[in-house]
Amino acid sequence: MLRLGMVGGGQGAYIGNIHRLASRLDGQWQLVAGAFDVDPERGRAFAISQGLDPARSYGTYQDLIAGETAREDRVDAVAICTPNFTHYPIAKALIEAGFDVICEKPLTATLEDAVALEKLARESGRFVGVTYTYSGYPMVHEARVRVARGELGPIRTVQVEYPLEWMATAIEQAGNAQAAWRTDPKKNGRGGSIGDIGTHAYHLAGFVTGLKLESLTADLATFVGGRALDDNAHVMMRYQGGARGLLWSSQIAIGNSNGVRLRVFGENGSLQWFQEQPNELVFTPLDGRVQIIKRGADDLSEDAKLRIRTPPGHPEGYLEAFANLYAGFAEAIRARQEGREPSLLGQNLPLAYDGLKGVAFVEAVVDSHEAEGQPWLTPMAV
Ligand code: NAD
Repeated sequence: MLRLGMVGGGQGAYIGNIHRLASRLDGQWQLVAGAFDVDPERGRAFAISQGLDPARSYGTYQDLIAGETAREDRVDAVAICTPNFTHYPIAKALIEAGFDVICEKPLTATLEDAVALEKLARESGRFVGVTYTYSGYPMVHEARVRVARGELGPIRTVQVEYPLEWMATAIEQAGNAQAAWRTDPKKNGRGGSIGDIGTHAYHLAGFVTGLKLESLTADLATFVGGRALDDNAHVMMRYQGGARGLLWSSQIAIGNSNGVRLRVFGENGSLQWFQEQPNELVFTPLDGRVQIIKRGADDLSEDAKLRIRTPPGHPEGYLEAFANLYAGFAEAIRARQEGREPSLLGQNLPLAYDGLKGVAFVEAVVDSHEAEGQPWLTPMAV
């Protein structure tokens, strides 16, 4: 088993627990160390409540680095599950101390930090995975393979959306911890909904289609009074080669809870995937019938098959998708440790460069919105 450390994800936090559940699913990772909370005492108490060795229940990430560096059985990688503005200093310190990193998205809160972190990852040779959750779904891999095989023909247009409803009122002013830092530009970064969930949608569209963004124009809105960042974003995109894209992210879309949806239209057919029915992919060939491709179908690609754990008809979902990222990270890290090429499971993973592209996208979206009258901007590094 690989040894996992974690920074953030303490009592009452959201995504840290998803990491803990997902990393356990395949028996590849064991959580052995953590600095789980911004409050050192609370973090140590939480670590002990999770059954960690008190000696590896750290108060701060600096203590974790010092403590783990001194051990022979040091952690193989550390997951960063803290608010955005802390990703850079924590990841930088971990990489400089020689640790592999699994970092939450967005990679950093600023483009400057993302550029520096991606450079550090590349030059150090450390593994830096980024948890773009939706690229863990088997049927998303199936979509990617089918587009790459040319089943849709050249892509004409991509529609991707991530609507949420949880911030339709000013919950950040009513004590919601997750909403509080997400609406603070210093902690979150410049992009509200676009940084928090638009980055997922942007990555998903690029992951499935392989298209590279050429330029974009964006319109952001803040509907909830007193909020400093956008809670709704519309982005028109032009991809290299002429394809067009439309991305919608929203935190005020009442009736939608994590309604991630991707539709890809080519010259010869289309594909649709919706996270609330993640076990299905809808394929329509030109002049043909609508086909529902189910997870578990015999003719699925190897890429999809190796990310499936249960027989068809038993639903798999979000935790399994997240576990697929952890399984892929484990394979990629093991391959590096053993000096070999990773198997298929350890390929096509979201890495630091994908994280940088996401932050560059957010910066360009906000710049485009602020520069009304200069509609098409080319993001740096995408
Ligand atoms: P949260 O507010 O629920 O939890 C943050 C945790 O980090 C808390 O336990 C807090 O005490 C701890 N923390 C803060 N600073 C720390 C520090 N310096 N050292 C140690 N611990 C510290 O936040 P969340 O909603 O879980 O989001 C965390 C990150 O995960 C964000 O970057 C967010 O964008 C990302 N996220 C990703 C997904 C996904 O689908 N991949 C989903 C939700 C959140």
